[in-house]
Formats: sequence, structure tokens, C-alpha cells
Amino acid sequence: MADLYEILEVPRDASTDDIKRAYRRLARDCHPDANPDDPGAEARFKELAAAYEVLSDPEKRDRYDRFGSSEGFDLGDPFGSGAGGLGDLFDAFFSAGSGPFGGGRRGPSGPPRGPDLEVTATLPFEGAVFGVQTDVTVRTALRCEDCTGTGAAPGTEPVECPDCSGVGEVRTVRQTVLGQIVSAAPCRRCGGAGQLIESPCPTCSGDGRIVQDKTYTVDVPPGVDDGSTLRLSGRGAVGPRGGPSGDLYVRLRVAPHERFVRQGDDIVEQLSLSMAQAALGAHLPLETLDGWEDLVVPRGTQTGRTFRLKGRGVPHLHGRGRGDLLVVADVGTPTKLSDEEAELLRQFAALRGEDVAPADEGFLSKIRSAFS
Ligand code: ZN
Repeated sequence: MADLYEILEVPRDASTDDIKRAYRRLARDCHPDANPDDPGAEARFKELAAAYEVLSDPEKRDRYDRFGSSEGFDLGDPFGSGAGGLGDLFDAFFSAGSGPFGGGRRGPSGPPRGPDLEVTATLPFEGAVFGVQTDVTVRTALRCEDCTGTGAAPGTEPVECPDCSGVGEVRTVRQTVLGQIVSAAPCRRCGGAGQLIESPCPTCSGDGRIVQDKTYTVDVPPGVDDGSTLRLSGRGAVGPRGGPSGDLYVRLRVAPHERFVRQGDDIVEQLSLSMAQAALGAHLPLETLDGWEDLVVPRGTQTGRTFRLKGRGVPHLHGRGRGDLLVVADVGTPTKLSDEEAELLRQFAALRGEDVAPADEGFLSKIRSAFS
């Protein structure tokens, strides 16, 4: 996708009012009704509307500035947004090894782009819910400071390759029975770079970059889930000889929580209740993601009954608001009863006319079941 600021023809620090004015002006100019003879007007108009939708919303604009996408993260964007422009689209379709993780994308001229990198970060459960800063360390290629990425020894400069005149590509024309065939191949002399380095930089051996571990601090937005991927535009490996950087993809793993289980943007929590609490109702302290709360359990609560605490779940990654907290009742049957407790339950059963095992059978039935 092209750069949204370029589409709206505004600087990156433009105010919301500037953006609104620019949008109105451009939308008027290229409205399809005003350009009935221009088939490109509608596409341009839609592009304007899409750019305006992101940049006019402070939250989306902030995400776009940070992640190169209004979504905060994106999966499967095959074009990348690093360089922007239509050139990217063509590269994505016509050059091998482009797209996420392919790397090595090459513009129409100039040194190739560095590869995309991937790293995994494991977040605590609460960090994924409320957002967190996390450090990731990745083995990457960084610009060689000694030659500022040119690959030429300090004090020298790369020279234009005489074989391809700096184009990086050599065309050959062959006459065949089918006619003239023109083929283009990367220039062998300069390897397609269009430049020759006569005295390579001793630090990087002429590559213009050095391999090193680098730690990035990643702002993880609230609401990400296990398996989400963040793209850090331009944080991948730098390209050789001063080429642009690829992107860094951060795959997120979320550690399980001992109490809470995630279900989309809802959180599910089990609530253990005794038989008496379930039958008579109770006020119980309940642990939520936001701290302890008082839960009113009504009389006659059955196992599996779910209490929905609105807005106590995970913040929606794409939009406002939060999911819910679902508290599922789990009524436990008492397994160890004192003689007095058992007697009270027998009285209870008798009052309700329920058949229960007599007092002395508890012991016998245990023995029987042990031998059956
Ligand atoms: Zn160097």
C-alpha cells in the first residue's frame, strides 16, 4: 500500500484539520462523477477515502505511524509498506523471493532490500490483555558504520560498473527462427549492483553491513492473542551496500494463566461452589483481571451456569471496548462428611421424601465397590 500521507499530499505532522481539508480538496477533484471519462478516478477516489479513514482517526493514525498499518499488526500483507508506491506492487508480483520472509526484494535500481526477519516473543497473559513493552533480540545485519554502508573502504567510493553502465542488468539480443529474442540478465561483473567497489571496506569486506545481535523494544498493543504477529516496518536486516532494510515480524506467544482461559476477547473463569452455597446463594470474592470483585451467586445455582461480567474481558484489538468475563459455576458434592453432617443431610432428604442410603450402608457400599 502506498504511503497514506503521500496519498493525501500532507506532511507526516499534519494536523487533523489539515488532513480533512486535503481530503475534501482531493476528493472533489477526483470524484468519479466529476471525471466521467477517467477510469482511474474511481480507484483514486477509493484510495483517498481509505487513507482519510485511517489518518482522520487519531487511534488508527497512531497505529499506522508505529506499525505501518492501521490494524496495529497485519497478517499476510504481501506487499509490505516499507517503500510504498506502485513499484512495490509490481515487485511483489514479478520478482521471486519477495513478500514476507522472502526478502531480497529489489527496486528498479539501487542495492537490494535486506531480508525480513522473524522472532518469537512470549508474553505474560496480562501483558497480552492490557498491552506491554517487551524486548526481542534478533541476529540481524546492521549498516557498517566504517563505510556508512557503501562497502567501499573509508576515503574511497564505489564506481559505476562499465559493463552495464550502472544499470545492473545486461540485455542480449539473439536472432532465432522465431524472430528476435531480447533477454535481460543481471550484470555478471557487478552482480547486478550497478557499481563496483575497487577497494572494499575492511570491516565488512565490501558488503556494507555487519551481522550482529540487536535488541528492539516492542510496544505490544492491548488485545493481542497467541499467534498474533506484529510487523515492525524497516526493522529487519539492512540490505547490502546501503540497501533498505526489510521488516521484522514478531510472532507472539501468550503464556497460559492458572485461573483464566481466553476465548477470543472473552475470558472464562471457573467458580467453585459448595452444595450449600449453590442452593442458598452467596456473596463471594471473585478474582478478575482488574482485581477482586464481589460476585452475588443467586439461590439455586446449577453447575454450568454462567455469569457474564460485561466489559471485564480483553480489550478489542480492532476497535474500542472490551470482551466479557464469563464465570462458570462448578458445584462440588462434598466427599467427606462428618457423622453430624451426614445426619443433617439425611434429615434434609427425609423432609423432601428422597431415597438415600441408610446410615450403616456408607461403610458397606465402600467395601462392595472396592471388590466389584
Ligand atoms: Zn564497511
